[in-house]
Amino acid sequence: MINIDNNNKKDCCGCTACSSVCPKSCITMTEDNEGFFYPVVDGNSCINCGLCEKVCPVKKEISQDSIQQAFVSRINDKEVLMNSSSGGAFTALSRFAINNGYTVYGGAYNECFDVVHDSAKTNEEAVKFRGSKYVQSYMGNTFKNIKKQLDKGDKVLFSGTPCQCAGLVSYLRKPYDNLVTVDFVCHAVPSPKVWKLYRDYLTKKYKSNIKSVNFRSKVYGYHCSSIKIDMENGKSQKMGLNTDMFLKSFFFNVSCRPSCYDCHFKTVDRMCDITVFDCWNITRFVPNKKDDDKGYSAVITHSEKGAKFFKQASTCLEVFDADLDTLIKYDGKYAVKSIDYTPKREEYFRLVNEGLPIDEVTKRVIPIKAKNKLMGKTKGFLHATGLMSLAQKLKK
Ligand SMILES: Cc1cc2nc3c(=O)[nH]c(=O)nc-3n(C[C@H](O)[C@H](O)[C@H](O)COP(=O)(O)OP(=O)(O)OC[C@H]3O[C@@H](n4cnc5c(N)ncnc54)[C@H](O)[C@@H]3O)c2cc1C
Ligand code: SF4
Ligand code: SF4
Ligand code: SF4
Repeated sequence: MINIDNNNKKDCCGCTACSSVCPKSCITMTEDNEGFFYPVVDGNSCINCGLCEKVCPVKKEISQDSIQQAFVSRINDKEVLMNSSSGGAFTALSRFAINNGYTVYGGAYNECFDVVHDSAKTNEEAVKFRGSKYVQSYMGNTFKNIKKQLDKGDKVLFSGTPCQCAGLVSYLRKPYDNLVTVDFVCHAVPSPKVWKLYRDYLTKKYKSNIKSVNFRSKVYGYHCSSIKIDMENGKSQKMGLNTDMFLKSFFFNVSCRPSCYDCHFKTVDRMCDITVFDCWNITRFVPNKKDDDKGYSAVITHSEKGAKFFKQASTCLEVFDADLDTLIKYDGKYAVKSIDYTPKREEYFRLVNEGLPIDEVTKRVIPIKAKNKLMGKTKGFLHATGLMSLAQKLKK
């Protein structure tokens, strides 16, 4: 049976394949003191059938033998583009799916702004999936629900992290023609506990509840994307990765899941049909295009099914062919490389668990420099005067 303890947490990505497959329902996904979920087995009910180990994607070789194709793309709908993390490729896939009778699954906020996996059957409902949420999503019974639908013959499009997609495919244990899986290039996932502490900090600071969160707001342009949080009382904050304490904890690798520092899924081969990610270098792939700072999505199809699905969904996209190796080299670094481990992670969670307020923990472990605070304050001016792109070029 599966056995995850304090010594081998990096061997579990929290996908829920094991707890979903257990015939005795004796595996409970349980939150640890960092806010991540791990399987805990009730040894008294376990019949040692070995299924949980068999489906664990971390124990499997990740490979696909079909030909991959690479593209860069952008959705034709301006409003969707501006609300998508990159070029809106995911919404194109989800719209095509829904218009053809699929149920779409993806990461969404619940009413408290926890990130959870959810489903949608209409394009209006599927808006909740738009935009990256940089937090590990809570899976609940998603895998079991999908299996029930697939066995009935319903069509399903599942989107999630590479480990969630691999976990689902592995849990299902047989191929389904009526399932399409979409993952993304995945930096890592931060702790839901840290996300909750940060939301509580904001609620206290602004004396108001949160109204909306956009981790990848393009208000200062795609290349300078910011986290924009609107509060119910009309107050709002926009910050970048060097000035926002939550983004900084993510991009400075202090709040991520242990499995992300040695990720089993960092390979161009995927156990999914389609991968979407950020294309930061559009002019490298389409030299006659001007980079208008609104974003493009990079797309890799991994299977015949994925290639056909993307082609059919492309009617609402601008699509250009791209060279796979070049796309990975310039835009897909984290498709093949894990984030670097930093010893500051231990200190960060030690202070979090000692109950120090999250702004104090940030000050001590990953302090936000005065220079960056000042830069953050001038962003609005730089963007409005067109000086932002000059500042970015100088920085590069
Ligand atoms: C945690 C995380 C890390 C990422 N790291 C990178 C990276 O290092 N490099 C890179 O190029 N791109 C990364 N991405 C992907 C990138 O942010 C965009 O999602 C991608 O460019 C597609 O953008 P889009 O405009 O097509 O669609 P979007 O509108 O951004 O589509 C969002 C899709 O992501 C899914 N999703 C959102 N949040 C979560 C979540 N927490 N868990 C599971 N699924 C979720 C939704 O279901 C939907 O399918 C990451 C995304 C996430 C969520
Ligand atoms: S060995 Fe079988 S019964 Fe025991 S926990 Fe794993 S799946 Fe459940
Ligand atoms: S990676 Fe998934 S299947 Fe493996 S132990 Fe963790 S939750 Fe279970
Ligand atoms: S980095 Fe790897 S282990 Fe972490 S969430 Fe992404 S795919 Fe899963």
